Amino acid sequence: MPSLTGMTAKQTSDSPRVPRWRTWLGVAPKSTPQPAPEGAPLSPRDAALHARRRLIAQVADFLIDHELEVLPFTLSIAYDCITGGSPRLAQLIHERTEKGLPITLRWLEDAQAVQPRDATAEAMATLVGELEGNLSDIGRTMDGARDATGTYSVALEGHVADLQSQSPDADLVGRLTALTRRMLDHTRTVASELTASAVRIGTLQVRLDEARRLANQDHLTGLPNRRAFDELFDREMREATLGGETLCVAFCDIDNFKRINDTHGHPAGDRIIRYVAETLGRIADARCHVTRHGGEEFAVLLRGASLNEAWARLDAAREEIAQKRLINRANDTPFGRITFSGGIADALAARTRSAALKAADDALYAAKQAGRNRVVIAGQAPEPLRKVA
Ligand code: GH3
Ligand code: MG
Ligand code: MG
Repeated sequence: MPSLTGMTAKQTSDSPRVPRWRTWLGVAPKSTPQPAPEGAPLSPRDAALHARRRLIAQVADFLIDHELEVLPFTLSIAYDCITGGSPRLAQLIHERTEKGLPITLRWLEDAQAVQPRDATAEAMATLVGELEGNLSDIGRTMDGARDATGTYSVALEGHVADLQSQSPDADLVGRLTALTRRMLDHTRTVASELTASAVRIGTLQVRLDEARRLANQDHLTGLPNRRAFDELFDREMREATLGGETLCVAFCDIDNFKRINDTHGHPAGDRIIRYVAETLGRIADARCHVTRHGGEEFAVLLRGASLNEAWARLDAAREEIAQKRLINRANDTPFGRITFSGGIADALAARTRSAALKAADDALYAAKQAGRNRVVIAGQAPEPLRKVA
């Protein structure tokens, strides 16, 4: 087991220095000696080779220091932490090690599944919201300005006509007319610039709509993400309450998914998540929202469906997936049966959103406990499987 400082027993006995990975994460004392090539300066090729060897050694040390298995998943985490690709995860690892807690595979998986999720999406959504607010203010101001320039132009034109027809002093009339015409030209230029700006604002608004759509979308599956789910939950809750309709909430979680990752690798695991997302996503319509809640878990909202109807829809998707025999096309090995478990709850029966989600989560837990590959309604005993694939 790693010691309290995250060092392996071998390191502790061989060398009392700070673990190497800390140096790469930038948390070692300044005085920590850095390896330097000896002798004459290296050629560019040798320097590149040296850097590559050093990187490989650093990745290896990271895994050894934390007693982590060599898996594509752990290798990519070590690489990202060392090269700065995941500064936030590197920081989490540092904080955890400081607390004397081990960096286990399980913890890394959870940390990686959770931590990149909302920071970017939340920041994007806030930014998009603010920009949209500003743009519509600017748009309104510009519309007002354009109306004003239009009225001003008409007034100036009228003024030119009056001057030409009424004044006795021809010279003064000439100068005033010229001046007024220049003001008229200027006003028209301003008006056309305002029109061009309005077109640009329109384009920006279209782009912001696209950015907002992306901020609400899970990039792996294309389904609405957890952030979108939270918004949908509130909206559907309102609609259901106003319309006197039912609202069911469900969690679906792929069974033994870790095994798929461990056996076939993370990219193959991603393909399975996409496949389940696609099949589950087919039950979605205007009143049924299928979202990716994180990792290998999906959250579903069904408005206007009774608990039994919601059960039937989810169970049909479960059955369809369980019937398939998928092959990992990367190496032609079978994935075995892919299944998911689900838990459904009546969202309106619970007092709060978190109580509703907890009820669905408890039902999901009951489905897992009952042997997986089934959908359970909150408060009801898990049904035996009707059809076994
Ligand atoms: P259970 O049947 O109890 O749900 O077991 P499980 O193995 O599915 O559950 P567990 O929570 O132990 O493991 C879920 C794994 O899903 C851990 C995590 O690495 C993996 N995971 C989370 N997000 C992703 C992802 O986006 N892609 C891939 N490939 N794996 C992911
Ligand atoms: Mg699972
Ligand atoms: Mg899970």
